[in-house]
Amino acid sequence: MAAKLIKGTEIREEILEEIEKEVADIKEKHGVVPGLVTILVGENPASISYVTLKIKTAHRLGFHEIQDTLSEDLSEEALLDLIDKYNNDDSIHGILVQLPLPKQIDEKKILNAIDPDKDVDGFHPVNVGRLMIGGDEVKFPPCTPAGIQEMIIRAGVETKGAEVVVVGRSNIVGKPIANMMLQKGVGANSTVTVVHTGTKDLASHCRRADILIVAAGVPGLVKPEWIKPGACVIDVGVNRIGEKISEKTGKKIAILSGDVDFNAAKEIAGSITPVPGGVGPMTITMLMKNTLKSLKLRLGII
Ligand code: NAD
Repeated sequence: MAAKLIKGTEIREEILEEIEKEVADIKEKHGVVPGLVTILVGENPASISYVTLKIKTAHRLGFHEIQDTLSEDLSEEALLDLIDKYNNDDSIHGILVQLPLPKQIDEKKILNAIDPDKDVDGFHPVNVGRLMIGGDEVKFPPCTPAGIQEMIIRAGVETKGAEVVVVGRSNIVGKPIANMMLQKGVGANSTVTVVHTGTKDLASHCRRADILIVAAGVPGLVKPEWIKPGACVIDVGVNRIGEKISEKTGKKIAILSGDVDFNAAKEIAGSITPVPGGVGPMTITMLMKNTLKSLKLRLGII
């Protein structure tokens, strides 16, 4: 195998250890810890497992953690009242509403009701605007793109002047990571192209990429011959392509695949993220980092 593996599982541990130390330090000096509330409406199994993992990570880091689990038939008004309560709770620095929400609730209205200074997911229009301006304006970069950039930095990949091609233009991955990579600053300063379903010749753009970031949600979309030899390939895609029985638990688990033909791509790329174990573990990690940052901003120590 030619490519170096960029392992999200290892980078996650490095970052969580850094956060853990900082939390202990702030607790000692200022007598406070980061406070995170996770709001889950209904019983979507994927949402339950994401929220469970977020809570577990927050506990491990010594955060003050509140979990609100609400019934599927909750009204929009009741959820807005709850958000208002946490917007005004000084022990809470991050408010996370797990998506998707049941259909009687307007997601946009809910996300817009979160205080932008507690919006650790980075989805509020104010934070999207701050990200676009860049530099010191940025408070909470959205978690998956922030995780991607952190992986690129920690893998030692040169970004200044690099040709970055982003496949996908979603609001949660494609558009924000493209915006982050073109800003001046560490882990950025790149020349960015965004390709999508309206692009005429996907392959020719991908072949130019020194850093290829793929977030399309299409298994095996990127073929090995689309990869420039030595490129850094970040595969964000998480696609369920089947089921198998886990050797550890004996239970049925999903077989996951990325958007890149990994086995062939690893022979051409300089570095590459696996699926699973690549970008996936970074998202929750960056959520914790944003929550810690929210507390530090409140304390005026950054
Ligand atoms: P999305 O469906 O909102 O957006 C996909 C984008 O890819 C669209 O902009 C579309 O134009 C583009 N696209 C789709 N098919 C294409 C094609 N054939 N050619 C060119 N462009 C194409 O998806 P998303 O929310 O951005 O997620 C993308 C993938 O990343 C999914 O597999 C998702 O599960 C995964 N994801 C992983 C994480 C994580 O690991 N933490 C987080 C978010 C998303």
